[in-house]
Amino acid sequence: MADFIYSQPVKIWFGKGKLSMLPDVLNELKADKCVLVCGKHFQAKAEELQKAEKRICGIFSGVEQNPQLSGAMETAALARSLQADTIIGIGGGSSIDTAKFAAAIAGEETDVLACYHGELPFPKTHLKIVAIPTTAGTGSEVTQVSVISHGSEKRTINNPVFMPCAAIVDPELSATVPPRTTMNTGLDALAHALEGFWSVNHQPIPDIMAAEAVRMVLQNLETAWREPGNMTARENMAYASLLGGLSFALPKTAACHACSYPLSEDYHLPHGEACAFTLDSFVLINADERLETLCKAVGVSGTEELAERIRSLKELASLRTRLSQLGEVNLDKLCSDCAKHPLMNNNPVRMDEEKLHAMFEALA
Ligand code: NAD
Repeated sequence: MADFIYSQPVKIWFGKGKLSMLPDVLNELKADKCVLVCGKHFQAKAEELQKAEKRICGIFSGVEQNPQLSGAMETAALARSLQADTIIGIGGGSSIDTAKFAAAIAGEETDVLACYHGELPFPKTHLKIVAIPTTAGTGSEVTQVSVISHGSEKRTINNPVFMPCAAIVDPELSATVPPRTTMNTGLDALAHALEGFWSVNHQPIPDIMAAEAVRMVLQNLETAWREPGNMTARENMAYASLLGGLSFALPKTAACHACSYPLSEDYHLPHGEACAFTLDSFVLINADERLETLCKAVGVSGTEELAERIRSLKELASLRTRLSQLGEVNLDKLCSDCAKHPLMNNNPVRMDEEKLHAMFEALA
């Protein structure tokens, strides 16, 4: 076995109804003044929370999908004006990532765009982050990643300043997720687990969590999609998503995520659907003895069956599976952008433009 260094610094509060523990979490963190960040779906609930928890002194509820830097800057300005010490992100990955970025820039005045582009380090002083996911997909509550867009540019920024102090994973919060988003986000969780597992940086402890996440997604995603009110399926998917996040946090994701960025930026696929677009293809491309063993451990006969299960989940929810469904596609640009993405270097099989052409042509 290769040597490894493993760490996981986020305290996780998991379980149905655990949102009610927010005051205890804030006590432990010695949080005094908090700004809550969310999207429209959580706005009314955020106002209720604020009435019950006086330490929430401000709310930014303007987060949209593919969150913009401007939202994080607005949140940071609000936090600074209120002298807040903590940012609470409640929502899907978009809200949590906005909270993370805002916390990183709220502590001190800085050139935010230079930090965004990696030309300047983030300020030394930053605010505490509490992450509360309401989708079962991104695992952002346990990663030091923030995915933020500036105009049409979408950047994945990996920095320890984004690591939450605490995560509250309350499956009840996901009961209202619409079926299509349930499928998108659930397949994102599956991609995290598989990519963490086959990443060239894979590690023994995340590998174990990846296998369990794959098993839980295969057993529960279809039920969560068919029966949105099925709390057992929601709970199992929330756990699978958390494990998915833990399984890619250190090894990082690989080719599916590399391809997801051009697919989201140029063809506007939601993040999970963009990752799922190539997931079954990469199961077959990356098939090796380790992956065949993982398949057997999670109850499928091998990589062929795993790819088929992913394909049928996508078809069930009418997710896009062919380039012809994306409008006018510039295949050369798509392959060139995918090949250039840094996450492509984590894939165990080298994927140059020629191989990507062949893969996408099979998805025409
Ligand atoms: P999202 O946060 O964009 O939410 C999708 C939609 O679902 C939004 O309209 C949102 O308002 C709605 N929604 C969320 N929870 C809901 C609920 N409980 N009930 C009803 N509606 C609800 O989607 P996402 O897939 O969770 O996050 C995607 C973003 O996260 C992308 O920007 C992606 O790049 C990023 N991401 C980040 C990480 C990380 O480690 N930081 C990992 C993976 C993905």
